[in-house]
Amino acid sequence: MFGIVQGGIFEDLRKKSSKFIGSLAFNGFGIGGSFGEKQMRKVLNWSLSGLAEDKPRHLLGIGKIKDIFIAVKQGIDLFDCVVPTREARHAVLYTKAGKLNIEKEIFVKDKKMIEKNCQCWVCRQEISRQEIRHYFKTERIYGQRLATLHNIYFFKNLFREIREAIIDKRLEKLEEEYYNYR
Ligand SMILES: [Zn+2]
Repeated sequence: MFGIVQGGIFEDLRKKSSKFIGSLAFNGFGIGGSFGEKQMRKVLNWSLSGLAEDKPRHLLGIGKIKDIFIAVKQGIDLFDCVVPTREARHAVLYTKAGKLNIEKEIFVKDKKMIEKNCQCWVCRQEISRQEIRHYFKTERIYGQRLATLHNIYFFKNLFREIREAIIDKRLEKLEEEYYNYR
């Protein structure tokens, strides 16, 4: 059971909530609420101020790659977000080099895989960009399923890479590899 730190964008309320929730016997903590991108660093700082480091800290509803790196560097351990699946349903595929909008004309004759060396089910079946685009145009739901499988794998792999990079002390380097998401 996780305790949730609230307090919006207000320093005093965030710190007060963090101290109080952090003093209770929860298994971990969630940081909730809505705040703009610019405020994220500050709000996270205030929200984490009263929470023990040896318990997991979850940031609710954040899923942009740029924001994930910011939050991880501040000490966030867990995330949940609709980004991988929602964008897949809108024909947006994630690759390390950036996002592909697979419905675009340029993919009509693109026989490449979504991403080279991707180990997701779709890429292992060697289903090409061209084919996925075709499914989006003809059997949309099947196209959406394929895109979802790939994107979920992409994010799982991103977090595997982040965990390894933390252990190897090269998180900044890994972040640079995702420069197209800045
Ligand atoms: Zn894939």
